[in-house]
Formats: sequence, C-alpha cells, structure tokens
Amino acid sequence: MTRPLSLCVLGATGSIGASTLDVVARHAERFSLFALTANGSSERLVELCVKHRPRYAVLSGCSSDEPAARQLRQAGCKTELLFGQAGLVAVAAAPECDVVMAAIVGAAGLAPSLAAARAGKRVLLANKEALVMAGALFMQAVRDGGAQLLPIDSEHNAVFQCLPRDAAGRAHTGEVRRIVLTASGGPFRAVPLERLAVVTPEEACAHPNWVMGRKISVDSATMMNKGLEVIEACLLFGATPGSVEVLIHPQSIVHSLVEYVDGTLLAQLSNPDMRIPIAHALAFPQRFESGARALDLAAIGQLSFERPDARRFPCLGLAYAALRSGGTAPAILNAANEIAVAAFLARRIRFSDIFMVIEATLSGVACTPADDLDAVLAADAAARAAAARCVAQTTERAA
Ligand code: NAD
Ligand code: MG
Repeated sequence: MTRPLSLCVLGATGSIGASTLDVVARHAERFSLFALTANGSSERLVELCVKHRPRYAVLSGCSSDEPAARQLRQAGCKTELLFGQAGLVAVAAAPECDVVMAAIVGAAGLAPSLAAARAGKRVLLANKEALVMAGALFMQAVRDGGAQLLPIDSEHNAVFQCLPRDAAGRAHTGEVRRIVLTASGGPFRAVPLERLAVVTPEEACAHPNWVMGRKISVDSATMMNKGLEVIEACLLFGATPGSVEVLIHPQSIVHSLVEYVDGTLLAQLSNPDMRIPIAHALAFPQRFESGARALDLAAIGQLSFERPDARRFPCLGLAYAALRSGGTAPAILNAANEIAVAAFLARRIRFSDIFMVIEATLSGVACTPADDLDAVLAADAAARAAAARCVAQTTERAA
C-alpha cells in the first residue's frame, strides 16, 4: 500500500478549508494532516486540531497565543503551534509535506502559495488572488520548483477536466478555440439597476447557489470574481484574453466549457458543491467520492444562459482591461478590489462605489513591468494606499 499523502491546509477555518477537511475525512487512509492554518479564529483552529490531530497548526495573525497552546495541551493534543507569516511559509514549504491546499483569501496567501510552488509541492489553488497578483512570477515558480498546480476554483477545475492532455498527461490548449467560464450572475442579476446603490452587505453575501466566504461572495455580486477568474484562466492555461469568454448561467450546474477547433464543446456538470473540485484535485489522476449529491438533471429541468450586461457588471470590463495592460495592472486591480470590498462590508461605501474605487485606483497608480516580487508588492502597497484614500474621500462626500 502507498504511503498516505501529507497535506497542509492553508486557510483551514474558511469555507474551502471546511470542504477540504470534509473530503479528507472520507478518505482518512489516503491522507495524513501535516498542518492547518488560520489567521484570527484561534478557537476554531484549536477545535480542528483536536479533531484532526495535525503535526502543526499556524496562527498567522499573532506571534503567540498561550490560551490556545494550553487548550491543546489540556485536550492531550500534540499539535505544535507556529505563528505569523513565517509559520505559514514554513509549513507550506516543509520537506515532509506533499500537498498544499492554498485556501487563504486575498493577497495574504501569496507568500505561502509561492513557497509551496517553489518547493515543488502539489498545489491545490483556491487562492486566485495570489495568482492574479503575481501571475507570470507564480507560474515561473511552479515550473522552477517542479510543482504540480491543480485548480480548485470550480470553473478552472471544470476547464482542466475538459482540456486535451499531452503524452505526459499535462493539460494544453493546442486544439482549443475558446474557453467559456460560466457565472451565476450572483444575487443581483435581476434586481433593478438603481437598487444597486442601496443593497446591503447581507444581501450581497446571500449567494443564490454557493455558500462561501464574505469576500468572494461580494466579488460574485459585482462579478469581479469572474474578472479575476478570466485572468486566472489565462495564466493557468496559457490562453489569450480574447479566447476567454464569460457566460451567465444562473443554475450553476455547467461549471465551464471548452470549445475545440472542430466546433465541439465539452463541459463539466455537477451540483454546485466545492467538494467536487476539491476531491478531483486530491485524488488526481484518479477519482474518489466527494460526498456531494448526485446531479438530477430531470429535477432541474432547464439550464439557461445569457450574456453578461456590462452596465450591471462594470467590474468585469476593468479586469479585462487590467489583463490586457499586463505588468502590475492585475496586482493593482486585485489590491483595489480587496480594499473596496472590505470598505463595503464595513458599510463605509455603497455597493456601486466598489467599481468607482477600483477604476480610480487603476487610473491613478502607475503600472510597471511585474518582473520581480518587489515590483508586485510595491504595486500592491501603492494600490492599497490609493484605494484607501479614494474610500476616505467617498465616505467624506457621503457624510
Ligand atoms: P473564507 O473567508 O471562508 O476563509 C478564509 C481563510 O483564510 C480562513 O481560514 C482565514 O483564517 C484565512 N485568512 C484570512 N485572512 C488571512 C490573512 N491575512 N493571513 C492568513 N490567513 C488568512 O474564504 P473562502 O471562501 O474559503 O475562500 C478562500 C479562497 O478560495 C479565496 O481566494 C476564494 O476566492 C477562493 N475560492 C473560494 C470558493 C468558495 O466556494 N468558498 C470557491 C472558489 C474559490
Ligand atoms: Mg469560481
């Protein structure tokens, strides 16, 4: 029997983290948990450690936590606690670790995801922001480190499953004409346009088909999520911006499509349940049970598709523009979006201001070549500062 794969879950207390641990628990003989990480929720992380007994746990938002260490000891749990960004990078790159689930939200996930890629791990990438930000550098780290990058985002996992493979089993876009990413359209697909100025964070986070973290839920409502995913698809699959299209599909059953040069379209269908792409990547190149319900197409009855409306979803156009600009533009787009979404969730700006903050930041911060990590991190910092100023001005105007 083969040795169990040693798994590190970055962002274990989040939505993707929970789905990952659920799938892993169904195949306990195939995995050993090496490390679990969280940023702030130390109680939740301690609970997960007591249940899953990983070798390490990382609390990245602090440099010590005596109560958490005491709770672990009292529960007879031998998990060793590490802290800060250094702890995240150490577990992601540790020689004993085979597979890294990159499920931290936002730019905060870049350092450990890059470290895992450089160390040649099998990287299961949910943290799309890290890839969008550091694009070419991230893909170079994957090649240099000999890592295997498997997409967890449901659309990219679907595309990966539909793409042709070369003799070595690697996906490529050789005979592919188009990649079509589906989007649910989020909770505001059909609300009157003038209501978008007054929708609340609660309404924005109430996604019709998926239960997700708050940041990606707002991104789905603005469709910036799909914009980030268009950039992600170009990087993962070596596609050009003109060959990646977005199609609204409100039922979230067709997770994406690949069109071949002969006119054939291949699609991946399933119930909307993130355990399916997670199980696909954990078992790859084999398959195993995910725990998801079987899809009953007759019960669903109808699948529908429509083109996205640029007036309703202007953030999508900003993402295409940043992708075409290249250099640090995607890092600027991503950072501005993170600041704008946090400000909306904190009720400091309106939903419709999110677009305005990102647009102003993209036109105010100089885009440079993204040749090294310092250039990317400088662009990220400059964009955060510019977006924060724009949020402050917007808040003052509204007061
Ligand atoms: P979430 O908010 O539920 O969880 C985020 C996790 O990241 C938590 O464990 C949190 O402790 C950790 N974290 C937050 N800030 C951090 C920081 N500064 N440093 C270190 N760790 C930090 O988010 P989620 O919905 O699970 O999404 C995670 C990632 O997966 C995102 O990039 C998202 O776009 C992507 N994704 C999620 C889904 C989904 O269905 N939830 C689908 C596709 C892609
Ligand atoms: Mg997605």
